Amino acid sequence: MTAFDLQQYLDFAYIAAVVLFILSLKFLSSPTTARMGVLAGEIGAALAVIATLFTPGLHEYRWILIPLMIGAGVGVPLGLVHMTAVPQRTALSHAFGALSAAMIGIAEYYVGTAPVTRFEMGEIALEVIIGSLTFTGSLIAAGKLQEILPQRPIVYRGQNIVSLSVLAGAIGLAVALVVNPPNALLFPIMVIVALIFGILLVTPIGGADMPTVISLLNSYAGFSAALLGFVLNSKVLVVAGALDGSSGFILSVIMCKAMNRSFANVMFGAFGQVQASAVAGKEERVVRSATAEEAASILSAANKVVIVPGYGMAVAQAQHKVRELYDALTKKGIDVRFAIHPVAGRMPGHMNVLLAEADIPYDRLVEMDEINGDLPQADVALVIGANDVTNPAARSDQSSPIYGMPIIDVDKAHTVMVIKRSMSPGFAGIDNPLYYLDQTLMLFGDAKQFVGAIVRELGGGH
Ligand code: NDP
Repeated sequence: MTAFDLQQYLDFAYIAAVVLFILSLKFLSSPTTARMGVLAGEIGAALAVIATLFTPGLHEYRWILIPLMIGAGVGVPLGLVHMTAVPQRTALSHAFGALSAAMIGIAEYYVGTAPVTRFEMGEIALEVIIGSLTFTGSLIAAGKLQEILPQRPIVYRGQNIVSLSVLAGAIGLAVALVVNPPNALLFPIMVIVALIFGILLVTPIGGADMPTVISLLNSYAGFSAALLGFVLNSKVLVVAGALDGSSGFILSVIMCKAMNRSFANVMFGAFGQVQASAVAGKEERVVRSATAEEAASILSAANKVVIVPGYGMAVAQAQHKVRELYDALTKKGIDVRFAIHPVAGRMPGHMNVLLAEADIPYDRLVEMDEINGDLPQADVALVIGANDVTNPAARSDQSSPIYGMPIIDVDKAHTVMVIKRSMSPGFAGIDNPLYYLDQTLMLFGDAKQFVGAIVRELGGGH
């Protein structure tokens, strides 16, 4: 095969990879096709890697295969972590991706064949800065989520000024390098300053805001890879990086919108600290609680039940018990649907994934906007480990930090039952007036155990 033929095949493989990446994103947008989306992405990535291995002039396979094996050795166990650890696992993947982009940029600067032009220097500097800050930022995010680092936002006076000065320092060094690319002394300083900025960027953000930050870091890693594509003249990398960067960015925007918060609030708001008002003044208000037996008899008498899962269901790993509850109720001819809030849990699609894991039919999962119209007709809204996403203060209390956040209108149902362990607030650290309403019954306990107890009362389960 001539070099010309080979190049044609390689180009074709790269185009096929790009098409598969685009299809992957398309398929990932619906739970029914999500698995196919993952497969399309995997085949696309494998195709791009294999095609690259056939690049004309590549002889040193040893130095490719050894890191490939090390990467696979790290990647396989990372892929097998438990569902609840997926946010920190994702943060680690971004850290590695960003590190590799930064290191390739560094290699291009020091060992690239021709001396870098000013334009190339600009590309390399930008790519290395974004890659480096994404690397350390993602490591901090993973550490916070894994609780190796303190989850709370670490804030001090003048923090934003310090962080922005460090960023300005990195950009200043990049500009100096563009003016004079051979000034090799400045390059490592720029890398170190960018690494420090990544730490400063993420440390002040609370652990619970990390999923949004990770999505944002994901988009940085993608843009860094796209810039690397320009540096290496690799079109597939430009497209894959741009897809990754823009989809990550859109996801961050969707998450912010669903929480009714701005990017600035997520990045600088130090959200997630429990407010004093969350615990104040609730002693006077009456809270009614019920047992599993009482809950089971209320559910048995219902025609329409809407289950609202939240973060507590994920923590308790209650989804399989919830499936048993669904089976027991549908067996009695009760209409059971699940109300899915876009930011229930701690990552986008968290509830969809858990309920799919328990084989709950997709058509029973209803998005917030659609189910809200039906809630006044629901006999029972059963909230399982959700809190903020059901808080009516978001509709009525202008002083609430979550005012304006769209919620699942469970308070409009005839009866509301809430499974949680205590009166503690959820992620936003605020009290939930839902718990004091006349039609609300608190079912205090661990979600898995309590749902299991209800199932037993209903005569179901294994
Ligand atoms: P919340 O964090 O508001 O509330 C979860 C509730 O679950 C807590 O009040 C807790 O109460 C209860 N809980 C915890 N463990 C258990 C258990 N083992 N059994 C029973 N209950 C338990 O969760 P929501 O899903 O309602 O809301 C998600 C929040 O996260 C929103 O504020 C959203 O903005 C935010 N967020 C979501 C992101 C996403 O992408 N999904 C990203 C970033 C933030 P108790 O301790 O009394 O049991």
